[in-house]
Amino acid sequence: MSTTISNSAQSWVSVDKGSDFPIQNLPFGIFKYGEKPPRVGVAIGDKIVDLLQLYSLGYLNNLSFSKTDFANMYLNDMMSHGKEACRGLRLRIYELLNKDNNELQSNANHVNNILVNQSDATMLLPVQVGDYTDFYSSREHATNVGTMFRDPDNALLPNWLHIPVGYHGRASSIILSGEPVRRPKGQQKPNEDEPPVFGPCKLLDFELEMAFVTFNGKPLGESISTKEADDYIFGMCLFNDWSARDIQKWEYVPLGPFLAKNFASSISPWIVTLDALDQFRIPGPTQEPKVLPYLEYEGNKHIDIKLEVGLTPEGGEENIISKSNYKHMYWNMNQQLAHHTVNGCNIKCGDMMASGTISGPNPENYGSMLELSWKGTKPLKLKDGSERKFLQDGDTVVMRGYCQKDDIRVGFGQVSTKILPAN
Ligand code: MN
Repeated sequence: MSTTISNSAQSWVSVDKGSDFPIQNLPFGIFKYGEKPPRVGVAIGDKIVDLLQLYSLGYLNNLSFSKTDFANMYLNDMMSHGKEACRGLRLRIYELLNKDNNELQSNANHVNNILVNQSDATMLLPVQVGDYTDFYSSREHATNVGTMFRDPDNALLPNWLHIPVGYHGRASSIILSGEPVRRPKGQQKPNEDEPPVFGPCKLLDFELEMAFVTFNGKPLGESISTKEADDYIFGMCLFNDWSARDIQKWEYVPLGPFLAKNFASSISPWIVTLDALDQFRIPGPTQEPKVLPYLEYEGNKHIDIKLEVGLTPEGGEENIISKSNYKHMYWNMNQQLAHHTVNGCNIKCGDMMASGTISGPNPENYGSMLELSWKGTKPLKLKDGSERKFLQDGDTVVMRGYCQKDDIRVGFGQVSTKILPAN
């Protein structure tokens, strides 16, 4: 069997130029179609490979997976087989979809059973997320927030360049692209000299993030090193970490984010494997001051992922309001995972760890309304003539991301969410 996916390989399934899902990607998701129950699928062009059918027809016989791994509402059972097994599965699918391989493509009846149009399918939440952690790993974002809310001369708190700062979020409110988000209600303190008030959030915001999903980690009490981290990461998706800035400002002292963050986070449906992203890795920033030894790492661990955010008012047309890149991260995933487990904290199959808002150096690269409108002082002008400081009811926020090198594009699709008025 192949050990890597060649950049010159093509699939017998036709893939449009500019598709996020060529044979070099092969991301995993959960979908259903017709009256059939949910199952595992792999995206190729505008089709989905039905892995349950593929298994049932005997194409995955020599792998360690069983039927229930694919006849499943979540990817977790499949992922519980670990990195090497999942890598082998993806390479077997590559082999079967390769133009040079006749096993599947020559059997029209099987092809008909195995390939589903994405337009006929409903995507479901891919992972049953056990624990969700949100980091705060973009230096530009942390600097912008520190400048706005504290002191421009000491924008970064003293720990920031030493620790991949993060907090434990809430897994129950992680939802899929397409599911609307209701404007949260909560306590706010709009006037310094007056008591707090209760009502719908007035400063609703998105956060442009990427998240990674983990395999089973080590037992409680053991740590994962930066060198080992890749073996514990299955893949990545787009992540919109919805934020209520007015609730956040009042509640966050001294223990950090709580109700301003846990009302919803939205993810894209396809998990793009770390293997598919490997060729887009690039060097990270020089880390000065030098990090402690357990945070040192070797090789290129940052990834060049082009990101954009679109905002569409109710009944209007889309405005691209931000263009950023995952390469702007200061701390990479290997450092985040090493830090997360250095105290012996265990991670489990299906944990989700988000990057924190990904802002770049220039104002057009900022990854939140808070930064784009600079705390509401510079409203964004939209094509329909309206302005936005923060998000309005009826707005739809879309995030997209892809890697591109020469002719090879590996993309994430999108996470799209409409905002509904408060209850
Ligand atoms: Mn966040």
